[in-house]
Amino acid sequence: MTGSPCTLLILGASGDLTSRLLLPSLGSLLTREPGRTVTVRGAGVEDWDAARWQKTVQDAVGSPVDDGTVTVGDYTALDVTDPAAIGALVKTLSPRTVLYFALPPAVTRRAIDALRGAELPDDTVLAMEKPFGDDAVSARSLNEALVALVPENRIFRVDHFLGRSMLLNLLGLRLANRMWDPVWSAEHIDSVLIRFDESLALENRARYYDHAGAMIDMIQSHLLQVLGLMAMEPPATLGERDLRDAKAAALRATHVWRNDPASASFRARYTAGRVGDRDIPSYADEEGVDPSLGTETLAEVVFEVANERWAGVPFVLRSGKALPAKRSEVVVTFRPVRHLPDGLRNAPRDGGRLTFALGPDRMTLGVHVTSGDEPFDLREEDLVAELGQGQQRSYEEVLDELLDGDVTLSVRDDEAEECWRILQPIRDAWRDGAVPLQEYAAGTDGPEGWPSADGFAPRDATAAAGTETAAAVTPADDTLA
Ligand code: NDP
Repeated sequence: MTGSPCTLLILGASGDLTSRLLLPSLGSLLTREPGRTVTVRGAGVEDWDAARWQKTVQDAVGSPVDDGTVTVGDYTALDVTDPAAIGALVKTLSPRTVLYFALPPAVTRRAIDALRGAELPDDTVLAMEKPFGDDAVSARSLNEALVALVPENRIFRVDHFLGRSMLLNLLGLRLANRMWDPVWSAEHIDSVLIRFDESLALENRARYYDHAGAMIDMIQSHLLQVLGLMAMEPPATLGERDLRDAKAAALRATHVWRNDPASASFRARYTAGRVGDRDIPSYADEEGVDPSLGTETLAEVVFEVANERWAGVPFVLRSGKALPAKRSEVVVTFRPVRHLPDGLRNAPRDGGRLTFALGPDRMTLGVHVTSGDEPFDLREEDLVAELGQGQQRSYEEVLDELLDGDVTLSVRDDEAEECWRILQPIRDAWRDGAVPLQEYAAGTDGPEGWPSADGFAPRDATAAAGTETAAAVTPADDTLA
């Protein structure tokens, strides 16, 4: 389908997502793949005229507007929650239109309700932003309303973490190399860490973030999707049905470690500090923040994928703001070897590590070798492969799929509901005060003793050490036997 003309109609066209991510990514995509012809239409509550819309698109998209690849279409000022107004707008849809809901989530929900009974052209694709609902019940209700408008395979729930290059890096390495399959299980893998640390602080996003927090913002959506890809059974094809069936099955098996959110989840928020050369105020003092909400800016949760392949392996998911550096990675730590011959010194705590760093993408295999000078002393050496820009292009990859009407890399209805189901016990525990809201100074790594800390203890070593932190992430002995 690449190459045939299509239309992108953005609802919420005057918003931040449109001008900062969607339109610039469209420009980069069309520069990279000039074969497409896209008409960009806009709609929103702001009373913009055609010239203002033309300028917004031109400024954000850049050169493809001049060379005719992008045609700037009309802009309609309307309240998308008004059934008559949005009903009239959708009557103007041409074939091959992507209707992109770049709206605050509550407004999106009301716009979908306002569309009830509307007839959309057969090939219309609906693109939904995160967060998709605010719990499993609301996600299900939204799914039902959407599927009354178009079939599920034309609903694209955007998760820009599933941007194609990152997905293919993970999948390619895992599925196309004979060496990984035999070791991709609890038999050989000790733990998996999925981390998204940001050095950015709130950046004026209190309106959204103060009601979401780090766990909903990142773990509920993006990081659980990455867990699904890491943990899924190898699919027969990378078609949308096979891939998403496999990922959904992994998510269905996922639950909070030992079903005990009080010991397996951690939350904290930053106080004043310094990140690089920037002074960061305390989160509670940031403009627009209501400190009484107790919103966390750093969250960490340990999950288990309770199935034959993974039972007993902690999957640690972590994300937060105002940390010392941007660090976005998946770390697979292998179990120590069964027997280390006497005579080898500096026994390692693990059996090697495989790390995927995202944006730019890099794969590192940490292996234990003996050094030349001291032939029996073990040390760790990294084998590094650079895999390109990856993550930085994620919205580009999303648009690439979306404009082709391919939903493979979007979140399916059942996955969206599962991700809320997985987190609900933690949300309940946090609401009930079972997990303290800790503090960390901006520019530091967060409170000490959390599972992701460097030296995250492999299972057997942890069991021997018997520390309190270890207790939160060490499987019961019977799961290891
Ligand atoms: P904004 O609030 O910046 O933009 C939303 C736009 O929708 C605004 O132009 C707003 O107009 C308009 N709008 C609000 N109500 C109506 C209405 N009833 N009828 C028509 N237009 C309306 O939000 P963002 O662009 O930041 O976010 C949009 C979505 O994208 C959200 O779901 C968000 O979670 C998601 N997202 C955003 C990211 C980002 O970096 N911004 C990143 C990833 C996801 P007005 O301002 O006048 O109210």
